[in-house]
Amino acid sequence: KETLDKGLEQTKTSFFSKLTKAVAGKSTVDEDVLDNLEEVLISSDVGVKTTLKIIDRIEERVARDKYLGTDELNKILREEISGLLSETNSGEATEFEVPVNKKPYVIMVVGVNGVGKTTTIGKLAYQFKKAGHKVVLGAADTFRAAAIDQLQIWADRVGVPIVKQQMGSDPASVAFDTLQSAVTQNADVVIIDTAGRLHNKVNLMNELTKVKRVMQKVVGDAPHDVLLVLDGSTGQNAFEQAREFTAATEVSCLAVTKLDGTAKGGVVIGISDQFKIPVKYIGVGEGIEDLQVFNKYEFVDSFFN
Ligand code: GDP
Repeated sequence: KETLDKGLEQTKTSFFSKLTKAVAGKSTVDEDVLDNLEEVLISSDVGVKTTLKIIDRIEERVARDKYLGTDELNKILREEISGLLSETNSGEATEFEVPVNKKPYVIMVVGVNGVGKTTTIGKLAYQFKKAGHKVVLGAADTFRAAAIDQLQIWADRVGVPIVKQQMGSDPASVAFDTLQSAVTQNADVVIIDTAGRLHNKVNLMNELTKVKRVMQKVVGDAPHDVLLVLDGSTGQNAFEQAREFTAATEVSCLAVTKLDGTAKGGVVIGISDQFKIPVKYIGVGEGIEDLQVFNKYEFVDSFFN
């Protein structure tokens, strides 16, 4: 909770000062305040659709109650945001969990280069290992040599095995080898990195579909999770990437990174609302421990307290 507060510090400070400005000199929530509030939400990267949804709901309450004090606005906003997050993020987990009866538990990680994909895989491997699980990494982003090297560095750092081939090899073949090796070693968790090129939607879709199909030859119901990593500091780009990847493959959960470096943590609210995909992890720093299991209650608390 402490790291989360610190990670979201910029978001919180900025959101509060903007909200205070939005209601300055007003005692009731009127058109002006609503307009200002709309700006505050959009500038915090909540996204247009989700912002309008929140504004609509507050308008409804103003219409119903006739008068709505600006002091209450904070409380109501908090309720509305909690409500929106609850629609998608049911879990209240605070621990890094491996589902029972999935062995190995296979996570396929997708996302464009630079968003923090490798770092997130390293941090996840660290947490799962710390929790006593046997972890294997698969370097199926074979498009860039740097991607394989970076993953190797994380594997060494965490102390987990990695399965890789040379650059340019078939990602599906790496995924296949990784799962076979994991099964042989009786591993608990497998995390597969994949290439994050978005230059061609059809290629991306074909590649991810092939990787999945080949994995299923070893573990019938793999991957158990497709984790899309998004850079929380890139606002509209993150929305755009979520759109592209959800069109290319079935994304089951999200990791939103770099929330420590942005005042726009609202992106977490907008993306989970718009794409109806739960946020499973959030990145709040570059360190190995700076990944948290997303908990909607803690998040809203950090946002507002
Ligand atoms: P990839 O290309 O998607 O695999 O990205 P990397 O994992 O190599 O990360 C790109 C940069 O973002 C690196 O400098 C990371 O240290 C940094 N990074 C990753 N996650 C976070 C985070 O949660 N917070 C901050 N501040 N930096 C991060």
